[in-house]
This record gives sequence, structure tokens and C-alpha cells, in this order.
Amino acid sequence: MNFSEMLLQWYPNHKRDLPWRDTNNPYYIWLSEIILQQTRVKQGLPYYEAFITRFPTIQDMAAATEEEVMRTWQGLGYYSRARNMHTTAKYIAHELQGNLPTNKAEWLKLKGVGEYTASAIASFGFGERVSVVDGNVFRVLARFFGIEDDISSIKGAKIFQALAQTLLPAQDERVSTYNQAIMEFGALQCTPQKPDCMYCPLQASCVAHGTGRQGELPFKSLKTSQKERFFNYTILKHAENIAMRKREAGDIWTGLYDFIWEDAAGRQGEVPLCLDDLKNNKHYFRLLPAYAPVKHILTHQTLFISFWVAVLPENLPPPCLPEGYAWYTPEKVQNLPKPIVIAQFLEKNGL
Ligand code: SF4
Repeated sequence: MNFSEMLLQWYPNHKRDLPWRDTNNPYYIWLSEIILQQTRVKQGLPYYEAFITRFPTIQDMAAATEEEVMRTWQGLGYYSRARNMHTTAKYIAHELQGNLPTNKAEWLKLKGVGEYTASAIASFGFGERVSVVDGNVFRVLARFFGIEDDISSIKGAKIFQALAQTLLPAQDERVSTYNQAIMEFGALQCTPQKPDCMYCPLQASCVAHGTGRQGELPFKSLKTSQKERFFNYTILKHAENIAMRKREAGDIWTGLYDFIWEDAAGRQGEVPLCLDDLKNNKHYFRLLPAYAPVKHILTHQTLFISFWVAVLPENLPPPCLPEGYAWYTPEKVQNLPKPIVIAQFLEKNGL
């Protein structure tokens, strides 16, 4: 039995029951693929449910505001995915009359859709004969065939893509299931740490198993470097309202709302400058006791965040806010899309 046949036999007995596998609706498949980029299935599942409930059709998403889409996405990270998804939904609804593209080449023209996503939608949604190569597939192929090429290089990626295409089953109607099978096999059997080689149906012919190199393959030269940043957030309150602003492009969290913000390089833990400004301008406020700093890890950055809550007297008019900030009622604050670290801080402290 060849490689793809073995995976096609393994799949029905081991696959997880996931909602996007029970649908032929390409809109739902597209949603699931965007949500699952760099996200574990367990984390992505409730977001998938939330999106298809709130935006059951592509027209519903196209008609929504960016804030509604971002609020539904809140907590999933990589927020550019949500913005691109919304842009693409509007493009498909308005320019393509709601007709989703039916092949990989057309999907690749759309915003936020790369090689993997275009292949996945074309294969799972439209049965196109294209291989789908994600991190799981790289791992299975590198180990089984003993491929040492760098998966983070363009040359390496092309080698894996070409090999994956040759492994597709002969019958077109089995290609989609095979693509799902190899991805699921990488997620459940040939896992990054501790692959289950003992009970693996591919064991007899697996190069990595035969040579004990499971831990070395796949080879990836590019490691992401982690930058440390120190933020001060001032939660300025006046009569229950909180000063917030929408973050602009050019830094993390574009389009999300945060408090009065200071990138406090070298000043971590010190009272934010904006409070000094308030004092100097003879504004009165009550500073609540300091909150424990929060460490928040993103893909390329580790944030150390200090929060300060300054309560202004209700009987005095609120001070002018820095440019871009405005006062928001508690209800509005609740509904604004926010970085998860901010949403959690508000909830935990009942603010
Ligand atoms: S034998 Fe081990 S390394 Fe090889 S494919 Fe199976 S699980 Fe992966």
C-alpha cells in the first residue's frame, strides 16, 4: 500500500469531528481556514461558531462594521487576519456579486489569502486537484521521506509543494479527503513533540523513525526573535466613563481600542507622564493603588504592561483628552473591540 493509501485508511478511524468538515459551504470553509491560521483547533472552534452565528452569509459579514468583526474576533490575536477577512468579504459581496472564487488561482488574488489558504479552500470547498501544505504536512513529509531541506526557505517550500502534489491519490474525488487526512495525521499522530511512532501505520518505511531523527525534522532555520516592550496604560475615569482611542496602523493592535498609552521604555513601574501633565495643569484625580504588572506574549513581542487607574472628580468638568481619545460609557466600552489583555483587565477589576 502506498503513502496516500495508508493515510486514507487511517483517517476515518482517527479524525476529529469538526464542524467545518461537515459542510460544503465555501464561505464556512474560508472562515474556518482564516480562523485556524496559526491557531489551535480548540481555540479556534468557538470563534468559528461565533462567526457563522453572527455572520451566517458573506453578505452579512460585508454589511457589518469593522468594529463588529473585530469585536467577534477579540482574543484570537493576529488582528490583521480579521481586517483582511472583512475587506475580502466586502470585495466578494460587492465586486463579485457574492460569488466566491472557485479555484486556487482566483483565491490567491484576494487579500489575506496565501498559498496554503487558497489551496485549502480550492480543495475542500471545490474539489480542485491541489495539494495543501501546512505545518503538519511539512512535518509528516520531512520525517517520512527524510527531507532535510529548510522549510522556511523558498527553495525548501517548493520542494515540499512539488512532492506533496505527486502524492495526491489518482482519483480526483479522493484528493480533498487525502489532504485532510495528511493534515490530521500530522496534528494527531506525527506530532511535533513525542510522535506516536509505536502505533504508526507508516512506521516501517519512515526514514526519521528508522534513523531516530524525529526530533531533527523538519529543519527550520528561521527562528523568530522576541522583542521586549514596556507599556504604561492609564485608565482615566470620569463619571463612569473611560477615555479610550482606536489604535492606528503602524504598530500592534491596529483598529482595536485601548486606554491612554505610553511606550514606557526604561520607565517601567513609574507613574505615567500623562498623570504628571494632569497634575501640572491642576487637574485633580484620585490614583487607585497600583495593579500588578501583566506579562503578555505576542508572536514577536513580549509586553510588560503596567495599569494605572485615575478617577477624576465627577463634580468638575472632564479635562481635555489627547488627540484621538474620547470618553466612552461602560456599555460602549464593553462593545468596543479591544486587545484581550485590556478586556481581561477591565473584567477582572470590575471597571
Ligand atoms: S513513524 Fe513516527 S515519525 Fe514516522 S511518520 Fe509515523 S509518527 Fe511520524
